[in-house]
Amino acid sequence: PSAFLDVRDLRIHFPTDDGLVRAVDGISFTLERGRTLGIVGESGSGKSVTSLGILGLHHRGRARVSGEVWLDGEELISAPAERVRQLRGQRMAMIFQDPLTAMHPYFTVGAQIIEAYRVHHKVAKSVARKRAIDLLGRVGIPQPARRVDDYPHQFSGGMRQRAMIAMALVNNPELLIADEPTTALDVTVQAQILDLIRDLQEEFGSAVIMITHDLGVVAELADDILVMYGGKCVEEGTAQTIFRRPEHPYAWGLLGSMPRVDRSVRDRLIPIKGSPPSLINLPGGCAFHPRCPYQGRNGIPCRTEVPTLAEGSDHGVACHIPPSDRRRIFAEDIAPA
Ligand code: SF4
Ligand code: MG
Repeated sequence: PSAFLDVRDLRIHFPTDDGLVRAVDGISFTLERGRTLGIVGESGSGKSVTSLGILGLHHRGRARVSGEVWLDGEELISAPAERVRQLRGQRMAMIFQDPLTAMHPYFTVGAQIIEAYRVHHKVAKSVARKRAIDLLGRVGIPQPARRVDDYPHQFSGGMRQRAMIAMALVNNPELLIADEPTTALDVTVQAQILDLIRDLQEEFGSAVIMITHDLGVVAELADDILVMYGGKCVEEGTAQTIFRRPEHPYAWGLLGSMPRVDRSVRDRLIPIKGSPPSLINLPGGCAFHPRCPYQGRNGIPCRTEVPTLAEGSDHGVACHIPPSDRRRIFAEDIAPA
């Protein structure tokens, strides 16, 4: 594989007492250094499990994992857990929605950043401490030399989020995965943190995966977008394409929840009714069909046949509506000029 990150037909299934949870069911994509991929979908669409799978953080013992994850020419699914743990932290890092899942309450913020650095670098504590202070300053924490000795609970939510980003960046990760990094924060802090991720990406040339339920978050930040539903990719393409002329009815619904979209357009969009499907009992055929206003239109087999992404194109759409009809519906009904 020549791409920096090459994910091929990734599947992560969990056996449970109620049945097999198909959390991720055949996801493929590539990502180059310096580029950002947005993975978008409602909660329960499999987007978080996809990222955990890439980082080897899914429950290895319990999950049935198949497919390939190539990081810079090294395959991670078949690699020993110890090797993946080493790469995590050294070359890959993750920013979580809730900083408290990544930070320990009993240790100071500085001690945790120093530890994360020294696991991978044989340097004196004083050197690592200097790096921690420097990073805390870079993520916008005032008086970092003083705050470095504070505990996580002494930080505000936004500051704690920044501290976690500093910790994730301490080893200049080449692959950074951010899972809903701003959901819990107010709008101003959200914008600052997204700017920060962008700046750091420009500086270090990292590949970034941004996971969100909000198409608006990735519209400006991502180069490419992958829309997930029921553990599968239903639409993928450049951010421009997905944002300006999406073709999957589910993506049309997601667009409708975006405040940046013009009011006249937003008012015409059909809100997505109902809730995401159970990953144990996915509806047959197109998993979106119970919620789709177009299902069965002109006799298309939505209930019985699983639609697949067209291969080898730069815009993939898994929907039975013929491409020309999808484009016409979007242009005439969804977003008329
Ligand atoms: Fe809707 Fe059918 Fe397309 Fe699925 S395949 S998105 S149900 S029109
Ligand atoms: Mg999630």
